[in-house]
Amino acid sequence: MYNATNSGSRMFRYEVVGLRQNAETDKTDYAIRNSGSQFFNVPYDRMNQFMQQITRWGGKIVSIHPLNGAAAPLAATTEPASNTSNNGAAPVKEKKVDIPVNIYRPNNPCIGKVISNQELVREGGEGTVKHIIFDISGTELRYLEGQSIGIIPAGTDANGKPHKLRLYSIASTRHGDFQDDKTVSLCVRRLEYKDKETGETIYGVCSSYLNQLQPGDEVKITGPVGKEMLLPDDPEATIIMLATGTGIAPFRAFLWRMFKENNPDYQFKGLAWLFFGVAYTANILYKDELEELQAKYPDHFRLTYAISREQKTPDGGKMYIQGRIAEHADEIWQLLQKKNTHVYMCGLKGMEPGIDEAMAAAAAKNGADWQEFLKGTLKKEGRWHVETY
Ligand code: FAD
Repeated sequence: MYNATNSGSRMFRYEVVGLRQNAETDKTDYAIRNSGSQFFNVPYDRMNQFMQQITRWGGKIVSIHPLNGAAAPLAATTEPASNTSNNGAAPVKEKKVDIPVNIYRPNNPCIGKVISNQELVREGGEGTVKHIIFDISGTELRYLEGQSIGIIPAGTDANGKPHKLRLYSIASTRHGDFQDDKTVSLCVRRLEYKDKETGETIYGVCSSYLNQLQPGDEVKITGPVGKEMLLPDDPEATIIMLATGTGIAPFRAFLWRMFKENNPDYQFKGLAWLFFGVAYTANILYKDELEELQAKYPDHFRLTYAISREQKTPDGGKMYIQGRIAEHADEIWQLLQKKNTHVYMCGLKGMEPGIDEAMAAAAAKNGADWQEFLKGTLKKEGRWHVETY
C-alpha cells in the first residue's frame, strides 16, 4: 500500500520494528523484512496517516530516510572525519560563511512542515522530550550549528493576542538530518510544573504545542538567531560541551557536523568532550547515537554522563554535571591553557554556579584566580560560550 513509487511527492523510507503480524498488516505490501525491521516507502503527503497506522499496529518507527532527490542518510556516512584528510593534502580551510540572522521575523515567519515528531525519553525516564524535524524546503531559511529558531505557537493568549515566539536551539547541522539542506530539527521538552498555590499541573504553551504536532502540520518559524554558540573554524580545536537536558541540542549539531557528515571544508581532528547531565539513564537523549560515536572515534570524542538520580558523588551527594566537572577539573584546566580550547554550556540556568565553583577549585590548585581567568582570558578570547534558559 505504501510501496508506490510516487513521482510527484517526496518519498521517505520508514524503518519500523515491533509490528504485530495480523490480517491487516499482512494486507500491506511492505517491501523488505530484515532482522525484525520492516521498511515502508511513504509519500510525504501520507506520512501523517502512515504514522497513525503504525501506532495502531503497535509498531515503533526507528528511522526515516528521504528517498528521491536527497543525499545519503546520516547513518551511511561511516568514514571518520579524521581519516578523510584530503588524500594527505593540507586540510582545506573552512570557508568563511556569513552568519544568517533574522531571515524571518515574527511579522513575516516562514512555514515549516512537520516531517516527524519522535519521543526521545525512554521508559522509566522523566517527562517528555521530542525530536522534531521540519521540512523547510521552498523557504529561504538557513542556519548554522549553534543557532536557534523561533516558534510561534498557534492560537491566542489570555488577552486574545497571538502568542509570542519562543526560542529553541537547533539540533541539526546546517545540512539538516537528511543532509539535503531541506530540514531543521529541534529537541523540545514539554514544560510541566505544579502551581505552588493550587497544586494544579501547568503545561507550557509552546512546548505543549510542539509536543502534539503531527507530520504534515504547518508551523510558523522565525530566525535564525544567535552568534554565541557558533563552532570555531579550527578543525583541530578542543571543544568542551556542558549540557543538561535539552541543552544537548546544539551539541548534537556540533557532533553530527564533526563526525557524521563528511564536509570537505571541516574535517574535525581535534577533541570533542561532552559532559551530559540528566536525571535518569532513560533521559539520556540521543544515547545510542552518542555512544556509537564514542565507540567509533575514541581518540576524538569523550562522553561523560552525570545521572543525578542514579549516580553519587564521592561524598554521597547526587551526581550533577558540576560533580563530573570537579572530577576532571585539573584536566579541563590544563586543556583551557591551549588557545584553541573552547567551552560551551547549554541547558538549565541553574548549571552555571556549580561549574564555576568546580573550575574555581581547579584554578586555585594551579595558583590562579578563576574569575580573573574567565573574564580576562576565556571570555576576552571568545572561548567561553553560554546559552542557558
Ligand atoms: P510558557 O507557557 O511560556 O511558560 C513558561 C513560564 O512558566 C515561565 O516563564 C515561568 O513563568 C513559568 N514556569 C516555568 N517553570 C515553572 C516552575 N517550575 N514553577 C513556576 N513557574 C514556572 N527549550 C527546549 O525544550 N529545547 C531547547 O532546545 C530550547 N532552547 C532554547 C534556546 C534559547 C536561546 C532560549 C532562550 C530558550 C530555549 N528553550 C528551549 C526554552 C523555550 O524557549 C521555552 O521557554 C520553553 O519551551 C517553555 O515555553 P512554553 O511556551 O512551553 O512555556
